[in-house]
Formats: sequence, C-alpha cells, structure tokens
Amino acid sequence: MAEHPLVIIGAGPGGYAAAFLAADKGMDVTLIDEQDNPGGVCLHVGCIPSKTLLHIAKLIGEARQAKEWGLDFGEPRVDLEALRQWKNKVVEQMTGGLAQLAKQRKVKRIQGRAVFQDAHALKVGDDVLRFDHCIIATGSRPTWPQTFPKPGGRVMDSTAALEIADIPERLLVIGGGYIGLEMGTVYAALGSRVSVVEMTDGLLPGVDRDLVRPLQRKLAGDFEAIHLNTKVASLTENKNSVEVTLETDDGKREDTFDRVLMAVGRRPNSDGFGLDATQIELDSHGFIPVNAQRRTAEQSIYAIGDVAGGAMLAHKAAHEARVAVEAIAGDKTKWDARAIPAVVFTDPEIAWCGLTEAEAKEKDVSVTVAKFPWGASGRAQSLGRVEGVTKLVLEKESGRVLGVGIAGAGAGELIAEGVLAVEMGAVAEDVARAIHPHPTLSETLMESAESFYGSATHIH
Ligand code: FAD
Repeated sequence: MAEHPLVIIGAGPGGYAAAFLAADKGMDVTLIDEQDNPGGVCLHVGCIPSKTLLHIAKLIGEARQAKEWGLDFGEPRVDLEALRQWKNKVVEQMTGGLAQLAKQRKVKRIQGRAVFQDAHALKVGDDVLRFDHCIIATGSRPTWPQTFPKPGGRVMDSTAALEIADIPERLLVIGGGYIGLEMGTVYAALGSRVSVVEMTDGLLPGVDRDLVRPLQRKLAGDFEAIHLNTKVASLTENKNSVEVTLETDDGKREDTFDRVLMAVGRRPNSDGFGLDATQIELDSHGFIPVNAQRRTAEQSIYAIGDVAGGAMLAHKAAHEARVAVEAIAGDKTKWDARAIPAVVFTDPEIAWCGLTEAEAKEKDVSVTVAKFPWGASGRAQSLGRVEGVTKLVLEKESGRVLGVGIAGAGAGELIAEGVLAVEMGAVAEDVARAIHPHPTLSETLMESAESFYGSATHIH
C-alpha cells in the first residue's frame, strides 16, 4: 500500500463528501485543496452565498408586496456592510463546520495545488505524495470570452458579483442562465436597474417553457429590460462605466452601464495540473471522461463533480462522490440516478427533475402531461403567489411518473417529492392517493396526479 491510500483533489461538495464517506468507511484519506477551508465553489462563492443573498432579495420583495395586503413596512433600506457581513458569516460558519467535520473524521488536509507526476503520484509544493487511489474533484470556473475585459473591475464574474461592492444604478447581466438570473434578481431587489442579454430566444435555454413563462413574466416587471436574440458585440470599460454594443438581427445599439456581470457558463478545471502525465484524455468540452463507477482511463484515478461533466450541480457531485468511494471500497455500485433535480432560485423559483415534455417528444416516449395551475391552490392564494404551475410528465399507459416540473414560490423544496416519485417508479395514483397536508403547495403535486384520472378536486 502506498503512503497515501486515497488522495482527493478538491474539497468542494464532491471532494469533501468523498473524503467524509471514505473516512467513515475506515479509509485513510488525504484531502488537498488550494483554499484553507473545505467547501469549494459551492460554499465559498456559489450556492451558499448566492442563496443567502437571494433570501434577502425575497424578503425585500415580500415586504414590498405586503403593501397590497394592507401591511406597509415602508421602503426597505439596505445596509450593505451588514448584509455582506451576514453573507460572509454564513459562509464562514459552513466552511468552518466542514473543517471541524474533517478533523473529527481524521481526514488529513493539505492546502496547496496538486499536480500529477504519474498515475500514482502527485506533487503539492515540494512534496511528492504517492497514492493507491485518487479522486479528482477540481470543479469548474466561469467561462470568459477572450475578447472582453478581464474580471476585476466593472466587468464582474459571479464571484465578484457576490461581493456586492456597491449597488450599481444600472447592471447588465450577460447570459440568461440560472447564475445570471439569480444574481440579477439579487441586484434588482437591492435597487439596481437590471438588464439581461441572452443570445437565444428565451431565458434559461433548454428549460421547459411552461416553467420559464411565469418567471419571464415576473422578471419583465422586475428588470429594466430582457434582450433576447441579442449578442454583446463589444464591451469597453471606463473609470465609472462600461460602454456596451448590443447586436441583434436588426442592427447594433450602444448603451452604458455601471457594472456588467458576465454569466455565460462554466468550464471544467481540467487543465494545468498534469493530467498529461496520465493516460486521461479530455473530451471535446474539456471534461474528464468517466465510466459508471466514475473511474477514468486510469485504474487508479476517479473523477467526480463539475470536472466530470453532466449536470454541474453540487448534489450531483456529492452523489458521484458516493459512487466513486463505494467503487474504491470494492462495493457493488454504479451511477444509476433517474432524476437529478435542478433548481433556479429566482422569484418565482423553477425546479424540475427526470424527463421533460420536450425530451419525451425527442425520445418518442408516449406521455401524458398533467398540469395544475396554482391559481386553484388555496395556499398559493393565501401567499399571493398564484403565478405558479406544477407539471407531471407521466408514462401514457401506466401513469408512471417520469418527470416533474414546478414553477412557483418554494419550488426548490417541493421538487424533492418529485425526485422520490421518479426514483421509486411511483405511478400517478401513488402521488394522488398519498394524503398531502392542507393547505400547502405540495397539494399541487397531488392534484396534478389526480387530474391524470380525470378528477382533481380544484380544477375541472
Ligand atoms: P468545486 O466546488 O468547484 O470545488 C473544486 C475545488 O477544487 C475548489 O475548492 C478548488 O480550489 C480545488 N482545486 C481545483 N484544482 C485544484 C488543484 N489542482 N489542486 C488543489 N485543489 C484544486 N449548484 C447547486 O447545486 N445549487 C446551487 O444553487 C448552485 N448555485 C451556484 C451559484 C453560483 C454563483 C455558482 C458559481 C455555482 C453554483 N452552483 C450551484 C454550482 C456548484 O457550485 C458546483 O456544481 C459545485 O461546487 C461543484 O462541486 P465540485 O466538487 O465539482 O467542485
């Protein structure tokens, strides 16, 4: 056995989950990351800080909406310094907690950048670590078009945007994906006039249009502008502003913003750490190819999380961590997820899992779609949030739940029932006959399922 039986590179949701499970299974684990505390992108500059800010944005929205219901808190005032401190405290608590959990499990942590020497050795600083098995969990970073000014000034990446250095009067978000829309939602709530530019003909490309519609309608009111079928032809950063040229089929147009957020996607961290010293060859998008056990072309090396492709989401990374560690432990295991939930934490939220209606069409799967508009939900009415929709994609003959989509307040929490239904192969009747608490938004899942049989109480 080598000096280091299991080495994990990267302590994000993939890497730390793998380290903790391996330690719980009695393995000797070394976890390497350039950052001091575990957590990776998700905890330091991704999921956790963005959701902390989005919660504040939600409160601001609710405080404003409450005026319609006879409750006037006045216009919310933002103390930016206190807000930043709160966000940083949440991050520090979470990442500090992970460091403690690593210590309790006797996971050896090394701070530094790991570089492969060969398929059984890594270099970190001056030290060479020989290993039996290695899990690569190096994650991803923002894609940055080469022709545009580097991040750091008024043109920001998501990490800079999360700092909330100020509340720009006018913010341009380039990219109508989930990161751009979430950060746009935060800045709009704080008082910025937000514009979004999206190259394709709709926000959240690839997501079910039935789900995107209520969000797009809401954002059309919350944002200054949504430019679809539009490209950014040029960006020029000045001391106090950014000059932008927007281009559509009809021609070009100049505009000026205080800040710009570039959110055009993320690319895998698969370069610059010696993978060429191994037999691993990247795919055409730079991801590390893996098999069902998450093993790479090298017997000794596994890859999980964003760097291994597929859904670039924290819970997918954590699930892959389990598969890779079980495979290393010699357990019978493989990646077999039917449903990876995805959530956009905008207002309203959008969440989905399993097969979408469009995918069913593409794959020629015969399905029935059961929809429940939230206007018919007592809970949605009482919350003043009737814009939502719950949608089940059901196998036509059997009624088996193949996919679930939800747009509406709290959709991210509600989708978990959908994931369970898809994973367990539930049929609509299972969902319809399970008694759901009243009045809750979860009833929208039950009633969608009831409508498959032609009789949902609150819709006809
Ligand atoms: P990462 O979290 O990217 O961690 C990789 C780690 O590896 C880093 O700490 C890095 O320092 C380290 N590393 C890289 N190379 C080396 C090396 N050579 N040596 C040593 N260390 C190295 N996902 C969700 O599921 N839900 C969300 O709500 C969500 N919101 C997001 C919001 C934002 C703004 C962003 C940017 C991302 C968000 N994501 C969200 C995506 C999520 O953060 C990633 O999918 C997740 O972090 C991927 O985990 P990972 O373990 O693959 O790697």
